[in-house]
Amino acid sequence: MRAVLDAVAVIFPVDCAGCGAPDRALCELCRARLSAGIHRQLIADGTVAVSALRYEGRVREMILAFKERGRTDVVRPLSRALRRALEAAAGGCSAPVELCTIPATRPALRRRGYRPVELLLRSAGFRAARVLTVAAGTAQQKSLGRTEREGNLQGSFRAARAARGRTFIIVDDILTTGATALEAARAITAAGGAVAAVATLAFTPRRVPDAVPAAVVRVPVSRPGDIRA
Ligand SMILES: [Zn+2]
Repeated sequence: MRAVLDAVAVIFPVDCAGCGAPDRALCELCRARLSAGIHRQLIADGTVAVSALRYEGRVREMILAFKERGRTDVVRPLSRALRRALEAAAGGCSAPVELCTIPATRPALRRRGYRPVELLLRSAGFRAARVLTVAAGTAQQKSLGRTEREGNLQGSFRAARAARGRTFIIVDDILTTGATALEAARAITAAGGAVAAVATLAFTPRRVPDAVPAAVVRVPVSRPGDIRA
């Protein structure tokens, strides 16, 4: 296997997406940073949010490379981390659940040319239901501060009427303030659907001051088969 990887590195020279070391899409040290960990916290409405990774250091670099620098060659190791969060989130659900992604604004989609979370899900063997849409006039979250983000998000998503009676896990790449997931949950429940949990690839450690310790969250044993692919 190593010989094959070496041969590929010669033909298609790449640098590690996490640390810039030559010749591998991900070096072994960076790959190891993705391989374990589950973090649980509650967002403002009391919904459990499960994240696989801390969004800092090499992990942050890898995710940024994947999301913003077109490094889709690291989709598989990242998707395994997201799958870990999804399975832990689904473990808390008594009924089968569907996955629901956060819709991309048009400028974001145009800039990247791909939907990072959808790529991760596909690589992990899942498909998301497209029940949320972006309401007209919603600004890009990325350029806003925390207070502006929360204000900007009020009413920014709509859920299809087809969401009624269905239960979802909201899936996103990074949990920062939790405001995006909260707004998605609001839209789903407003349309008559239910939200079982939020699952994200990573969370931003310092920017979630409302987070409570995982010890207070009761999450039964994971049953990955419960997620409808
Ligand atoms: Zn590396």
